[in-house]
Amino acid sequence: MTLFITLRVRSSNTSRYFVAVYTDSSCMVGCDHKHENVTAAAACIPQAGGYVVAVRHGKVYQQLTAAEEAEFQRAMSRCEENCAA
Ligand SMILES: [Zn+2]
Repeated sequence: MTLFITLRVRSSNTSRYFVAVYTDSSCMVGCDHKHENVTAAAACIPQAGGYVVAVRHGKVYQQLTAAEEAEFQRAMSRCEENCAA
C-alpha cells in the first residue's frame, strides 16, 4: 500500500516541470527545457525581467505556489549576488 502511494506521488511530480519565460524583442518566449525545480529554471533566465512558470502535462501553464515563488526569489537574489561579485 505504501509503495502504491509513493509511485502515485512520483508519477504526478514528473508530469509537472518548470520553464524560464522572458521577453525577446517584445515577444514572450520560454526555454525548451523541462526543469525539475524552480532554481534550475531561474538559472536559465538570460536577462533581468524573466520569470518561471510551472507546466503541467506539457501544456497547462500554472502560477507558482507560494513556496515555489519564495524559491524563485531566493534563486534570483543569489544570482544578483554572484553577478555583483
Ligand atoms: Zn531552461
